[in-house]
Amino acid sequence: MTQLLFPLAPPAVPIEGSDRAFPVRRIYCVGKNYAAHVREMGSDPAAEPPFFFMKPADALVVGPKAPYPPDTDNLHHEVELVVAIGRGGWDVTYEQALDLVYGYAVGIDLTKRDRQADAKAKGQPWERAKAFEASAPITPIVPAERIGHPKRGAIELAVNGEMRQHGDLADMILPVPAIIARLSEVWSLAPGDLIYTGTPEGVGRIARGDFITARVDGVARIEVEIA
Ligand code: MN
Repeated sequence: MTQLLFPLAPPAVPIEGSDRAFPVRRIYCVGKNYAAHVREMGSDPAAEPPFFFMKPADALVVGPKAPYPPDTDNLHHEVELVVAIGRGGWDVTYEQALDLVYGYAVGIDLTKRDRQADAKAKGQPWERAKAFEASAPITPIVPAERIGHPKRGAIELAVNGEMRQHGDLADMILPVPAIIARLSEVWSLAPGDLIYTGTPEGVGRIARGDFITARVDGVARIEVEIA
């Protein structure tokens, strides 16, 4: 086999309670998946259904610190349930969808809200606002065989101990099986894919030195300092 010019290993996320790690291929993200958040962003959830975008796999942050990024004066937190795909598929039905899931994690979709507003105004793509370095803090992945498939329960985020986001997984417009089914109509899902499933209301600004704690009931808790 042809030798690679230099070594390049896939990003990986630890698996809770194991010495193995989950290698990451792609990160899909769902936009506008909780009605109250859609409204706080100034949109009508009935008029604008959830949609998909991506972050690069090497945007993941596993660990206690994420750097404040350049190119923004308005960095926002978005706590999200993350789905880890362990089996591939395309055109997966709603009924089959959970068979693809290896496990779950809690992630933060860090967003440059100012750059996102610029992109929206100009009709440009979102990478500059969403796909920057260290934009995807994540906890270790908890296997579904241990916790099942969470369908309801609190999803919350606090900054410096003050509650900012509080929602319930049951309020997702597209629940996890529907996300997987829809995504797989467009892209071929494969082992190693992660899906950030959208954020509830209460997104807001974070600053250097802020300490973020977030949790999803029955899944995990994340702590990140913005360094
Ligand atoms: Mn998001």
